[in-house]
Amino acid sequence: MASLGSVSITVLKSTPMTATPGLAFDNSYARLPPQFFTQQLPEPVSSPGLIAVNHALARQLGIDPDWLESTAGIEMVAGNHLPEGAEPIATVYAGHQFGGWNPQLGDGRAVLLGELIGADGIRYDLQLKGSGRTPYSRGGDGRAPLGPVLREYIVSEAMAALGVPTTRALAAATTGDAVMREGMLPGAVLARVAQSHIRIGTFQFFAARQDLEALRALAEHVIQRHYPNAAKTENPVLALLEGVVANQARLIARWQLLGFIHGVMNTDNMLLSGETIDYGPCAFMDNFNADTVFSSIDHGGRYAYRNQPGIAQWNLSCLAQALLPLIDEDQERAVASAQAAIDAFPDLFLEAHTRGMNKKLGLASTLAEDEVLVQDLLAVMSTAEADFTLSFRRLAELACPESGGESVTGIFELPSTFEPWLQRWRERLAQDSLDPGARQQQMLAASPVFIPRNHLVEETINAAVRDGDFEPFHKLNEVLSAPFLYQSSLARYATPPRSEQIVHQTFCGT
Ligand code: AMP
Ligand code: MG
Repeated sequence: MASLGSVSITVLKSTPMTATPGLAFDNSYARLPPQFFTQQLPEPVSSPGLIAVNHALARQLGIDPDWLESTAGIEMVAGNHLPEGAEPIATVYAGHQFGGWNPQLGDGRAVLLGELIGADGIRYDLQLKGSGRTPYSRGGDGRAPLGPVLREYIVSEAMAALGVPTTRALAAATTGDAVMREGMLPGAVLARVAQSHIRIGTFQFFAARQDLEALRALAEHVIQRHYPNAAKTENPVLALLEGVVANQARLIARWQLLGFIHGVMNTDNMLLSGETIDYGPCAFMDNFNADTVFSSIDHGGRYAYRNQPGIAQWNLSCLAQALLPLIDEDQERAVASAQAAIDAFPDLFLEAHTRGMNKKLGLASTLAEDEVLVQDLLAVMSTAEADFTLSFRRLAELACPESGGESVTGIFELPSTFEPWLQRWRERLAQDSLDPGARQQQMLAASPVFIPRNHLVEETINAAVRDGDFEPFHKLNEVLSAPFLYQSSLARYATPPRSEQIVHQTFCGT
């Protein structure tokens, strides 16, 4: 366990290799040209301690979870032992941060150990975050405080359980070393897994340097890895762009349908794989308000809930711009094709959003006027300051009142101002083919009851950081692993915050 008493300034220089059961690395990114990364060993820590191992994910990756929990496994997570076959690198990228261009970013507090082919046949990056300084650290120390590591663990795993494409948390370890932030804080390392960590900013980095060869190599790599069907088309790079646009449209729709606010949608935080990344200042909304912003550094509300689809499209246009020279030699033709791909975003988003909303409203069919029904529901919710998650959950319960499952009415009821809207909804349901039982099943599966509410996340982090008590963290993860099944014994995890519990600001994980 991290204790501030055991701060150590000794830095071990060598990182021994250990044989590792089940870890068969195949490091395709490390085979790309040298300008893509810097070889970088994780910096060892004083005293690795186990926080958590994600058993299900370990098995999915073909790693023995018991080994990962052993001393050797924890030493690997903490960066003290390199698994055999790892080729640790820090990758370089650029990005627009809050709209401002930054030509040089990179893994400043993370190293990519390598890639594993999972038991599911999918290639996964295994990255250590908080593993020490790299050439891209600039002023930072390359370390991560325990709080942000726990936040990322909880929220990324909750997102996975909610069915949202996301980076995952394989394991977390305390370091025994303190990191200096507002004061001294216990340090930790997160072992993060993603289908890849290639960002829009990775393409921007090479485009800005007019390194066409690297840009082409990167596009080929991403096509092979994530968009193999694009290779079979007439213009693979354009098809790649179209594929990324479609994936991001679906991803952002899922965020919106869950009330998730990312908080730092910079172009270096958007992955080509279509997975959510960077759980710094993110949070789920409690009461619905489309203007909600949590991030302490987002003064203009650039990344407010309502802006997320538009910002995603803006970020995608940065990707399009970077890809232009690969799309067509003729610049005008390249621009026209790329523009068409970007222009498709709003419709793709709306389609995914409507499909998701129909599930939440219990509709099997789609009518043109459903969009108004949805907008009006959100307006009623907003005026009533009703809880976003529980409003939808309650609707699901109302779809088949006599079904007998446990109800959230002990902690939440729809305000009476919903009545006129509910009347319209019932009339709409009457025109739809689903029977009430099937309808309710569809609705319950689309509207979770447990989300990682900010006040619970904070409470959990405080218990761990202040008191060294990780029980609340484990319990919260367990509850969030089954987000669609309500049990009244877990009511406190579904209950919106009382006014004094509301967390108004979130901070990036640095
Ligand atoms: P992020 O907030 O994770 O999106 O990071 C933005 C940039 O800051 C990236 O280039 C990171 O590598 C860098 N960075 C963030 N935190 C640290 C840190 N503690 N030490 C060094 N670099 C950091
Ligand atoms: Mg980031």
